[in-house]
Formats: sequence, structure tokens, C-alpha cells
Amino acid sequence: MAELRPSLNDQKDKIWDIPTVTKVKAFLWRASSEALPVVDLLKIRGMKGDSRCQICGEEGESINHVLFTCTVARQIWALSRFPSPMGGFDAFSVYSNLSYLFNMGKSRILPQQIKRLFPWILWRIWKNRNFFPFEARAFHPLETQQKIEDDAKKLSMAQIVDNERE
Ligand SMILES: [Zn+2]
Repeated sequence: MAELRPSLNDQKDKIWDIPTVTKVKAFLWRASSEALPVVDLLKIRGMKGDSRCQICGEEGESINHVLFTCTVARQIWALSRFPSPMGGFDAFSVYSNLSYLFNMGKSRILPQQIKRLFPWILWRIWKNRNFFPFEARAFHPLETQQKIEDDAKKLSMAQIVDNERE
């Protein structure tokens, strides 16, 4: 496994340079370490029970499914101003999808206010998934989109204030 993904550690190192808050960095770290508690991983640890995605009903739930290929994730990505890869996100590799995002986050052609969105998009998708069984009827893609924009805006305001203090 390690030989197939020689730059996994490089990818994780990049997380600390992403301009976002610690809780989101920690979450990105867990996503790229395949350490988020999704059904597929819980099953490996012996958990029994429903192995379908609770959102779309697909059999099996991987980190990649939750963050990129599930119906809700697709809607959130489609509504966001962040550009998705040509041909869409990879159907299986969370590694290649995160690499794409981390590289785009450093792109010189994307405006700052677009680049800073992706950590918040992932964060909201994950939050959403965790609350889904309770708020199934309350999921509004547009509302989620607004929350992402607000999170990103609040953070950049906080950073501006920090810079002015220095
Ligand atoms: Zn799903």
C-alpha cells in the first residue's frame, strides 16, 4: 500500500499550510489518513449492522463516497464556486481527490476567495453526513452553500484582523 502511494506523507504535510482553522486541519488530516469513522472502516473493526450509506442507500460507505461521490456531496460540490476536476471527482481514490484540492488550493490562477472554500466544503459535507439521520428532511443544499461561504468569509476576516495586529 505504501509503495503505491509514495507521496501520502507529502500530502499530509501540505495540510498544515492550508489557511484554515485547526479543527478543519485536524479533520483534513483524518480524511487523508483514512481515519474518519465511516461504515467501511467500522466494519473492518468488526462493527455489525447496516452497511449502506445512510444518505443515498448505496452499499458500502467509504471516506471517498461521503466526501465526493454521495448524492449530497455531489450537490454541494456542484453548487459551490470551487471548480471540480474535469470529468468529475475520482470514484474511488480519496487520495487523488484530496491531492486535486490541495493543488488547486495553491493555484495561482484561482482567486483567494475561491481557493479558501474547499476545506469548508469538505467540513460541511462531513458535518452534514453526521447529522443526516436526524436532519434528513432539513437538508437544504443552498443553505449549506451559504454556511460554507460564511465560514470562509469569517475566517478570512479573522486573518485580516490578525495580520493588522502584528
Ligand atoms: Zn451515499
